[in-house]
Amino acid sequence: MGHNICHMTADEKCDRRKIMNAIIERAMDDGDGYNGPMHWHDEVPPLKNCDEAEKWIEAHDTGWYDDHAVRFYDYTSAEITPKIKELQNKHAAIILKIGEYEKQHSVKNLKAAFIGCPECGSKLAKDRLHSEFCPLCRTDLRSKTTLDTLAGYRQKQSDLWGKIKAEKEKQKSKAKVKWLIKYEYHS
Ligand SMILES: [Zn+2]
Repeated sequence: MGHNICHMTADEKCDRRKIMNAIIERAMDDGDGYNGPMHWHDEVPPLKNCDEAEKWIEAHDTGWYDDHAVRFYDYTSAEITPKIKELQNKHAAIILKIGEYEKQHSVKNLKAAFIGCPECGSKLAKDRLHSEFCPLCRTDLRSKTTLDTLAGYRQKQSDLWGKIKAEKEKQKSKAKVKWLIKYEYHS
């Protein structure tokens, strides 16, 4: 129910009529039909990568079922060089570490039966908590040290992800031009 914003990619030389038919069909099956129109930006040279294409569309979107397609260089078929492999291994390791750290530092592991929410002051029965958040005000109940440590790990993860992308983007010859297509429909 609501306003659906979808993205898809397609080959540069795709059959636009087929793509539009697929979008119209999905909007009909899953929602109230397709409004359109779709703007295919042939005048815009391919953007550096998929993220840039997404940003470009966001910047040109008037926000009301205003659909756009723009080209970008896709590196998903980049070769996994030893350097990329090493970065991917580090990336996988930090994700595991985050998972373990979160498990170890869960509010469920606190000794007290009740946890005070630092934001709204509620006394919460630990056994009835289903997450790390206060059910009343959604404040994260974990300690500042835990949250800072997690933020540090997440920063490392995002730095590694950026490095992997940058390494792949060095392989200009492996890049394929694709369309990023953003469409919206109401359901
Ligand atoms: Zn609270």
